[in-house]
Amino acid sequence: MTIDKPGRDVAATGLLPAELSKAFLLQPAFRGRQAFKWISRGARSFSDMSDLPAGERARLSDEALFSTVVAGTLASEDGSVKLKLALREGAAIEAVLLSDAEGRMTACLSTQVGCAMGCTFCKTGTLGLLRNLGPDEIVEQYFHLAAIRGKPSNIVFMGMGEPLLNLESVRRSIAIFTHPDGLAISRRKITISTCGIVPGIIELADNGPHVRLAVSLTAATDDLRSALMPVNRSWNLVSLKEALLHYQARTGDRITLEAAIMGGENSSLKSAKAMADWIRPLNVQVNVIPWNPVPGLPYREPVRGEAAAFEAELERLGINAVRRVRRGRGVAGACGQLGDTLGAVEP
Ligand code: SF4
Repeated sequence: MTIDKPGRDVAATGLLPAELSKAFLLQPAFRGRQAFKWISRGARSFSDMSDLPAGERARLSDEALFSTVVAGTLASEDGSVKLKLALREGAAIEAVLLSDAEGRMTACLSTQVGCAMGCTFCKTGTLGLLRNLGPDEIVEQYFHLAAIRGKPSNIVFMGMGEPLLNLESVRRSIAIFTHPDGLAISRRKITISTCGIVPGIIELADNGPHVRLAVSLTAATDDLRSALMPVNRSWNLVSLKEALLHYQARTGDRITLEAAIMGGENSSLKSAKAMADWIRPLNVQVNVIPWNPVPGLPYREPVRGEAAAFEAELERLGINAVRRVRRGRGVAGACGQLGDTLGAVEP
């Protein structure tokens, strides 16, 4: 059973406790909370919910809890795993389990089928956009990843798609992830990553949820950023900076800026200086990410020392910068690589 939402139905995994009660006619109402707890613990069917009365389990045993299925798995030597998930209508998305040196696991979740933003260094950007994901399809990515090696402690909305162009589903999925009767994941362990959708950043600042914010900056001159990221033609660096200053004034949070470094494109010390000048007086950490190769895209990986020099220049200019290890690369699950197991998704 599903509740109607514009465009498609939402499966049980996209519902909060009271909505589960209503959608599945669970009486008394606390049964919805029980079902929610079971789903959060990884139940795949109402039949698994042993504290629901036997009659209820029998009545609901044919109801599908999930709307997605795992259609492929790729594991990397660094512990990362990429899942291909089939959606109801036959389209597919990818989700990635990232594992760091300390063994901490992060679920990297997609928010759209494909992406319309067209960042020139990103595989997903070459696919086009089919549709937004529903909250169930977002939440289920986490559950599928959790079934591999236990529940990831962190969540990043950094997979396929632009989260701030699907804010309704992202908000609902965060409400589910953070709900005290379910996974109860702290908002501080959840990150929304945007390519720079200015109205979305302002909306997040004003109305939340206040999770961590990451922005893909990549370059800090309008000419270069517009060439690499078409979003900059709609919201340029002046408007992006104003939005981030507003965000910081409202939340007090440090913002993460992502800088994917393509060899010879945006890797110069001059580019680093422009970035440092643009950043002040924002309170940020810059993640310097050596670009991950994507066949067919016209860029090269930075040569040895190129990304390190960029990072060092930012640091020299007083900007807090960190060079990121490229996790997930072995499964093409690293930043900008998602979508290689999928065909074009344009309708
Ligand atoms: S980097 Fe993100 S916003 Fe840009 S095309 Fe790729 S998925 Fe879309």
